[in-house]
Amino acid sequence: MTTDDRGTIDDRGTIEAARAIRPYLTDWFSPQEAAALEHQLVDVLNPPAGLSNPTDPTMLASVAGQLRGLLETRRLTRRFLGDVLADAPYYRPPEHQPRYLRGRNAAGPAGDPGPVLADRYICPHGDYTWYRPDVSTPVGRCPTHQVPLGRN
Ligand SMILES: [Zn+2]
Repeated sequence: MTTDDRGTIDDRGTIEAARAIRPYLTDWFSPQEAAALEHQLVDVLNPPAGLSNPTDPTMLASVAGQLRGLLETRRLTRRFLGDVLADAPYYRPPEHQPRYLRGRNAAGPAGDPGPVLADRYICPHGDYTWYRPDVSTPVGRCPTHQVPLGRN
């Protein structure tokens, strides 16, 4: 992996993709494979200094490189990573990007105000991102740290 002017941007996007992909793994893979992949991601997402307020570009590049290696080994996770990076600077999962929502609501009634974007919640330790589908869904906890997610 070479570094260029976009390296830092893609590093942040890759880390965000790894945080945001975790809720999807059990939909895509067997319970065993989902758990194994999540365990690998969690290990990388929790370096000793933490990722909640990352400032060291060398550390970020190292973390992002390891995450990229994990996400590029499987077709579904590779596609997710590409979709998230294409959404810079928001780095949302494809189903929470406006272009996807517009397509899904294309047959809505006339005067439909359009899709409502989901609120984003993150673990204060910086290893988990979750999008709240609607206000009736309770906000959960980080599965790693068992702490409430904060709106971000
Ligand atoms: Zn966490």
